[in-house]
Amino acid sequence: MDKSTRIITVANQKGGVGKTTTAINLATALAAIGERVLVVDLDPQGNASTGLGIDRQARQLSSYDVLTGGADIPAAAMETAVPGLSIVPSTLDLLGIEMEISEAPDRVLKLRNALRNSGPLEFSYVLIDCPPSLNLLTLNAMAAADSVLVPLQCEFFALEGLSQLLETVEQIRGSINRQLGIQGIVLTMYDRRNNLANQVVEDVRAYMGEAVYETVIPRNVRVSEAPSYGKPAILYDLKCSGSQAYLQLASEVIRRERRLQAA
Ligand code: ADP
Ligand code: MG
Repeated sequence: MDKSTRIITVANQKGGVGKTTTAINLATALAAIGERVLVVDLDPQGNASTGLGIDRQARQLSSYDVLTGGADIPAAAMETAVPGLSIVPSTLDLLGIEMEISEAPDRVLKLRNALRNSGPLEFSYVLIDCPPSLNLLTLNAMAAADSVLVPLQCEFFALEGLSQLLETVEQIRGSINRQLGIQGIVLTMYDRRNNLANQVVEDVRAYMGEAVYETVIPRNVRVSEAPSYGKPAILYDLKCSGSQAYLQLASEVIRRERRLQAA
């Protein structure tokens, strides 16, 4: 793998907070501004794969094969309709992986080793979409990454579970991946007419400070429609407020990644 490749894990053990939406739209936004991007779908649900237009029947090789050593990343990566954006899709095979690799001494390092042993990758960014759990798949993603990006939904329990997630990041940093940083926290599904959402934004900023991106992703029906067309929102409706927010997030991510890389 090229040293200049930046690997970002999108994680939050809560479901429905916008991980997959963020992974595919941030990836598309990065590709739109000229980066070469790979999404690795580590969720057995395969929503990122579906959302990027990869039909189940088309998934010949998957992240399962990559984690079990059956395929290298260049072989498993499929091009998407977005120029410059590829994906290693997931299949339901991933549901069994925990059992299959749990005895292996390198069980947490499967993805990292696969990335390192893949030869020079053509990608400048790798985004990993995680399942809603702090399981072995998410640990693999954190072990492989330069940084973690955490989506938080603008709702009452937004911060619930965050300390456990950050503790897990600490543990990984203290053991197998010393370079792991926090890319940032992105607030998702924001509705400005909702007073509670405004309060959540304030609370999260007060509590997490600089880690929180300036960009807030609005709740936007176009964003939620897009996956049913097998398209990221940015391809489905570039002008909608959600797409514009993800483009803005991409430039913040690039700025931070340059800073993390220099550190
Ligand atoms: P996760 O991957 O964390 O489970 P998803 O990205 O799948 O979360 O999002 C959960 C649901 O919320 C999906 O139906 C998705 O389409 C919808 N959603 C996510 N972000 C937005 C948004 N900004 N506006 C409207 N709907 C959204
Ligand atoms: Mg998801």
